[in-house]
Amino acid sequence: MTHDADIILKNAILLTMDANLSLYEPGAIAIQGDHILAVGNEVDVCAQYSSEFTLDCQGKVLMPGLINAHTHAAMTLLRGLADDLRLDVWLMGYMMPVERQFVSSDFVRLGTKLACAEMIRSGVTCFADMYYFEEAAAQATADAGLRAVCAQTILKFPGPDARDYEEALENTRLFLGKWRSHPLIQPAVGPHSPYTCTQDILRLTASLAKEFDVPLLIHLSETHQEVENSRKEHGMPVIPYVKKQDLFDAKVLAAHCVHVDEGEIKTLLHHKAGVAHNPSSNLKLASGFAPVSKMLEVGLKVGIGTDGPASNNDLDMFEEIRLAAFISKSTSGDPTTLPAPMALTMATRMGAEAIQLGAITGSLEVGKRADLILVDNFRVHNSPRFKREPEAIYSQLVYSSHSSDVSDVMVNGNWLMRDHQLLTLNETDLLSAAAEYAQRIDTFLLEREHSVLSKLIAIGGASEEESYEVQVKVAVTNPEIVTSGVNQPGIEILHHRHYHEYDTYFSFTDATQGYLRYREDEAIGPDDQITSVRYRLTLLGPTREGNFPTDVLLSRSRFIAPANHSLRFYREYFKPTQETVIEKHRLRWRILYHGLEFFINLDRMDNPALGHFLEVKSRTWSRRDAEHKALVTRELIHSIGITNEIPVSQDYIEIVNPPAPK
Ligand SMILES: [Zn+2]
Repeated sequence: MTHDADIILKNAILLTMDANLSLYEPGAIAIQGDHILAVGNEVDVCAQYSSEFTLDCQGKVLMPGLINAHTHAAMTLLRGLADDLRLDVWLMGYMMPVERQFVSSDFVRLGTKLACAEMIRSGVTCFADMYYFEEAAAQATADAGLRAVCAQTILKFPGPDARDYEEALENTRLFLGKWRSHPLIQPAVGPHSPYTCTQDILRLTASLAKEFDVPLLIHLSETHQEVENSRKEHGMPVIPYVKKQDLFDAKVLAAHCVHVDEGEIKTLLHHKAGVAHNPSSNLKLASGFAPVSKMLEVGLKVGIGTDGPASNNDLDMFEEIRLAAFISKSTSGDPTTLPAPMALTMATRMGAEAIQLGAITGSLEVGKRADLILVDNFRVHNSPRFKREPEAIYSQLVYSSHSSDVSDVMVNGNWLMRDHQLLTLNETDLLSAAAEYAQRIDTFLLEREHSVLSKLIAIGGASEEESYEVQVKVAVTNPEIVTSGVNQPGIEILHHRHYHEYDTYFSFTDATQGYLRYREDEAIGPDDQITSVRYRLTLLGPTREGNFPTDVLLSRSRFIAPANHSLRFYREYFKPTQETVIEKHRLRWRILYHGLEFFINLDRMDNPALGHFLEVKSRTWSRRDAEHKALVTRELIHSIGITNEIPVSQDYIEIVNPPAPK
């Protein structure tokens, strides 16, 4: 007597991807509701179970659906937006500003649906996602019928869905509470990375994940620069640093782990962290090569991910599996490393373990959820098939099959695609909605790109100080006149410093854009040692208001931002047409003269070697005050002892204060 099953799939090359890589041909699987009742040889399964719905798989490969271990699904809407850039310029210069402007729950819903359509087509049944408005991502995924770990992103700065990290944490808490027992969605906590989170955030997110017993998703050790910065700032590389913040109290899924040493791999293993290896993304962003074979050797659970569609630029897991195998072989110089069955294991059972869902999906075993795909292995590009060794089927799948060979997809016992037809999503509608977003984002970026100021504001932190600046600059042959001249009864010294300054001026074809100055200020102590270093970015006003009286210059508009990024970042982001470097020693006095505040700078220009210059500056917020200060400035110059001003080198004026536009 046979038992009833809801559906039986038979006449397949059945790859279970279980721990023994059990393979049945012809194999069959019996499904009841959301789970697998039986899996094995067709004769055995059909002797035990019968069903009204029996599907003849016609000799195709029946295997567990693929697990995309790391993505940002909604970024399908940003696919191809900005490419061929370094990670920091790409992320801080383009992705984050556009995300702040456009990402909403509507955006995330649409972007995630598009991603689901693409992933179903390529045989993905489960993915680990990190993004904003993750509730919308969860809903879209559940509606599409896919399984996912959905992690709500938390950052130290304002994100599209939270004004600060406290709000982000609160939203995450509500999200976890609401979705924790959903059949398809595993909610999770997503501190973006150690460099976009504070120590507090890392600690709080770990304890939140622990409290709800949910996974914690994070990007770790993605680039060499990230690790170097961690060493500089925290005195240790990334993995020990996050360990110190008790991050591994949670069940961690770490994306990338490109730059980790053996000790760090052991730390990850010891804390049962999963790793998401992202071959395309690491290749495209030239992040380096993750030591995957070393990770596998020690028993770390390594899954394979596509990363977001803006850094890949697709969600094709077949491509990722192949690349994972190829890269591991190439970088180790050993073609026997990461063989096809292992590559496919990483994308199925081990991937599910890495994303902390190993108990319910990733292999075709009795009791697990019915998450499976059918792959056509009779196509021109993946035929013929050799049967001498059973492993040949894995080679066929890993080295010559395409995502478009996936014909049918089932998740949780429900069909999402039958014979290449999507059953839960309408691609035509999704594509036209995506095109509308692309047009709006293009318009936004076109407007931003034509102004240096708006590009500066877009990367955050620029504070506008629209003040008037009064300044006199004169060349001085004897600097001692100035050093002794400031020490006189009429001048009250408030503050005195010595700096060594390196300035890089970016100029642009359109002179009305002004100059952007990247300044590295080394404060020099009494014993000539460097006491502190500060980096500032200043957009010097495009307009020079004029000279009055005679040598006193009045300029307007300067926008100052702390320079959080490297000079290289700004060079690649702003793309200046010319760069000028100036190096000088500066003695600086902040003084009061006739009750007004001035800065007196005595510069020794070392590069170019132009000698000494005295600069007297003062800032004010009204033009009338500026006129008054201009008169007092001249008086101050005279009282310091500079009576016969020598005309300032024209070169120097040009560099520091651009001429008025014609
Ligand atoms: Zn990522």
